[in-house]
Amino acid sequence: MILPIYTYGHPVLRTQCSHVTQSYHDLEKLIDNMFETMYNANGIGISAPQVGLSINLFVIDLSVLAEDDPSVKDVKEVFINPKIISIYGDESTYNEGCLSIPGIRSDVLRKSKVEIEYFDANFIKHRTKIDGIYARVFLHEYDHLNKTLFIDYLSGQEKHNLNRKLNSIKKGKYSINYPTYSEK
Ligand code: ZN
Repeated sequence: MILPIYTYGHPVLRTQCSHVTQSYHDLEKLIDNMFETMYNANGIGISAPQVGLSINLFVIDLSVLAEDDPSVKDVKEVFINPKIISIYGDESTYNEGCLSIPGIRSDVLRKSKVEIEYFDANFIKHRTKIDGIYARVFLHEYDHLNKTLFIDYLSGQEKHNLNRKLNSIKKGKYSINYPTYSEK
């Protein structure tokens, strides 16, 4: 089932997420719905707050990027209660966008490598090191669980330049070809 994506201005995107337990109601179905919602919006990652739920869960599928980066061909994963063990490596910029902030993209500086711990859809614990676009998307989605959006990293001037667009999104004025929910 395709869920509406909550957009910029909705308080759920600024709410700290909480721990997910194995007995969480209909977790398997929720994960399926999140993948379906993400694919429908041509996204490569989506977090629970973006579908209105303040829980530590996101999903990623980078296979669509395999043409540019064959190393991510098989990166399709569910992240439950993810943790960052360490973050390191050179900083790089990448032009990020977000399904909750339609029509806006911006260069964001992030470190390139991260060691992470998480539980998968079967509640099996993993500890691994990721880098490149995988680390980039992980960090973007991880931020969502901690009420942070990529636009928070922009300079005052950059943010000022986007103000009008951001205000329009807040008012629900944007055109996008997937279902959204902007009512407060
Ligand atoms: Zn996002």
